[in-house]
Amino acid sequence: MSKEELSCSFCGRKKSETNLLIAGMDAHICDKCIEQAHGIVLEEVSNSTTSEISSDITLKKPKEIKEFLDQYVIGQDDAKKVLAVSVYNHYKRLLQKDEGDDVEIEKSNIVMVGPTGTGKTLLARSIARMLNVPFTIVDATVLTEAGYVGEDVETILTRLLQSADYNVEKAERGIVFIDEIDKIARKSDNPSITRDVSGEGVQQAMLKLLEGAVINVPPQGGRKHPDQKFVEVNTKNILFIAGGAFSGIERKIGDRLNTRAIGYQKDFVDQVDEENMLQYILPMDLKSFGIIPELIGRLPVLTHLDHLDPDALKRILTEPKNAIVKQYKRLFQIDEVDLTIEDSAIEFVVEKATEFKLGARGLRSIIETILTDAMFEAPSGDDTTLVITREYAEEKMSSSKLRRLQAV
Ligand code: ADP
Repeated sequence: MSKEELSCSFCGRKKSETNLLIAGMDAHICDKCIEQAHGIVLEEVSNSTTSEISSDITLKKPKEIKEFLDQYVIGQDDAKKVLAVSVYNHYKRLLQKDEGDDVEIEKSNIVMVGPTGTGKTLLARSIARMLNVPFTIVDATVLTEAGYVGEDVETILTRLLQSADYNVEKAERGIVFIDEIDKIARKSDNPSITRDVSGEGVQQAMLKLLEGAVINVPPQGGRKHPDQKFVEVNTKNILFIAGGAFSGIERKIGDRLNTRAIGYQKDFVDQVDEENMLQYILPMDLKSFGIIPELIGRLPVLTHLDHLDPDALKRILTEPKNAIVKQYKRLFQIDEVDLTIEDSAIEFVVEKATEFKLGARGLRSIIETILTDAMFEAPSGDDTTLVITREYAEEKMSSSKLRRLQAV
């Protein structure tokens, strides 16, 4: 058979009519047929993942959800329990077969209040990972009311669509984490003083999204303009989890407890644990902070995260599945170096992180600072072990930029 006679076994095109003809055992395939087949594969895969979502979701009960979270998140038992129950209920409702039941279970979006770096994002991300649903994080501070400079709230859904590879059905079962929700609080408790564009307008714009509606989403994000094509996304089954530090809200909780301290409640107020006021948070405290009641109503599940004490920080460094220390050990292992960080050095890292007041957020950069020289030297050296002592850690920290940061 001469070369010119070769043709695609699928469409019959001659080699000269194709850009590329790939030879198999007894057959050939051209570039056009490959493209078409690829399209079919993608379609099949996206159909099968949709049904996968359903079977996945039915698997976990609240206790199992919490056990899963325990692998990644240290402490925060209250938040884990509340999240486990509401996520379970959310997806139970979603999988509920419509059998003419006139009891419609409403969805329960969640708001988590807690200091920065205590695991709010990590919790939301871990839940999405467990459920294998699309997940996106948006920063409430970049959102603005339509018509102002910034991003429209609809772009929240653009991000979710993107993380679902533009599979609308998948996106409609996803989870959105809205970070820094406290930053769009009304600046003044009295709405009549000034019109607050950054805060209240955005809160208003979010209402429709959170309660469940069909929203026109610009698939590429950006500003809406008349000839742009939209994708319709129904937010009815999207779980929104909002998080914020709400710094200063402890004072509002305290005020509330004090002003209501009459009769037997007085005894309660006397026993209040003033170090951990967040545990007493109620929706009305969010209102005093400047979240409008309508928005609070659409985030009916409220939970809090605790400050991370030194013991928790230590556990975060070493215990979770992908704990920071485990990650660095692996990095050195690749260069055949066995890394040990002594307990006293770990304690030093925890002390520094506590000083920086960044929750667990400071841990990685502190360890990175301590290990940078070693990571520079080790791959070219002969040592097969590296032991980090407290003295070594102190010395590396004292010559670093982080130390200067601390001085500021
Ligand atoms: P935030 O509460 O500000 O959303 P994050 O969840 O983003 O905090 O936490 C920042 C990082 O700190 C996470 O990536 C994680 O490594 C670590 N971290 C924070 N809290 C915990 C925790 N409770 N358990 C384990 N790791 C945590």
